[in-house]
Amino acid sequence: MKKKRTCSYCGRDENQVGFLITGVEANICDDCARQVYDIVKEADKSLAVHRHAENRIDLQQVPKPKEIKAYLDQYIIGQDAAKQYLSVSVYNHYKRLAQKEKMDESDVEIEKSNIIMVGSTGTGKTLLARTIARLLQVPFTIVDATVFTEAGYVGEDVESILSRLLQVAEFDVERAQRGIVFVDEIDKIARKQDNPSITRDVSGEGVQQGLLKLLEGSVVNVPPKGGRKHPDQDYIHVDTRNILFICGGAFDGIEKKIAQRLNTHTVGYNSVQNAKKIDAANLMQYIQPQDLKSFGLIPEIIGRLPVLTYLQPLDRNALRQILTQPKNAIVKQYAKLFDMDGIELTFEDSALDYIVDKAVEYKLGARGLRSIVESIMMDAMYELPSAEDKIFVVTEEYARQQFDKANAIL
Ligand code: ADP
Repeated sequence: MKKKRTCSYCGRDENQVGFLITGVEANICDDCARQVYDIVKEADKSLAVHRHAENRIDLQQVPKPKEIKAYLDQYIIGQDAAKQYLSVSVYNHYKRLAQKEKMDESDVEIEKSNIIMVGSTGTGKTLLARTIARLLQVPFTIVDATVFTEAGYVGEDVESILSRLLQVAEFDVERAQRGIVFVDEIDKIARKQDNPSITRDVSGEGVQQGLLKLLEGSVVNVPPKGGRKHPDQDYIHVDTRNILFICGGAFDGIEKKIAQRLNTHTVGYNSVQNAKKIDAANLMQYIQPQDLKSFGLIPEIIGRLPVLTYLQPLDRNALRQILTQPKNAIVKQYAKLFDMDGIELTFEDSALDYIVDKAVEYKLGARGLRSIVESIMMDAMYELPSAEDKIFVVTEEYARQQFDKANAIL
């Protein structure tokens, strides 16, 4: 005889209730399900209140600029100037947030200091932003400026930046409003000098104006799902006054603008002395807001990015350190992969030098290190897990042989 099914919560059997939802080892009737739903709803509400309390910034808990920099040092080689600027700006961002919570009329209002980082590709801009985000207790998102186009063109509206931040903040608008946004490749929306405005530049001044609106601090209507605005959609209102924007870009060729400016300045009776002081190989360190203007950023945008810092190109020495030193260094990652099979992996120094040589030769910077190591290690990763050997040493000869083999078709 078939056993009667009952509600595991109230004990009533199947024909005493509206309907029964059956589970693996338990059943629930419609009445009990409704009650459970009410309980969950209440719990959610108190969770939201709790979350609100969590949103408060306790400055004592926030790492100090030196602590932030020390944390960045574990993961990023060099780039001291950028690390210092970023640490201070993020710390000040927290101070502003803490101040907002207990401000009275007479208080001095601390203004927001958005940041712009200039440095060639693969020097660590995104890595810096990502690493700092891990340390923070505020929502953080990375967006790419190249996807934005002026309203009316194919592409994304600038507002969609905020949709991503909202998603990260799990649609808690209050949390999103104090978040940090990293806008990558901001140089790609610079106005091109040789582009007369007869044909409107799709990715140029119009997009900069859109971004300006966000940087200035205003209430923006955000389409919750991102993408294009749609008349039938309900918008979420996001106030960008407290959102910290960190912008990054390679600004290829900006050194030329810096050099031009420095040269014109060094004309005069002081010029010989000044010229001596300039380190011509590393012009990036002399970057000034007016160079961004010469590059094609509109002055209003530059004005809203008051903290300007730079990243140095990575030299051989830096590349060598990047291979082995950071907490997540590439060599450490491969050692870990092999360790999981009980294999001890080591690289001879000369093999590491060879990898750096190749990265320099192919002008790939730090970005290339990983793909070079990957091509060298591919065969070993394929064969060693099934082999008897428990020790594997990558010699220069092995590295060269594997790299040449992988690149033979090129
Ligand atoms: P960018 O954003 O400046 O183009 P990324 O931050 O994306 O460059 O760098 C690419 C990769 O190169 C990183 O994931 C990291 O592995 C490595 N890298 C670049 N610069 C550094 C650095 N200064 N220290 C450690 N690793 C770096």
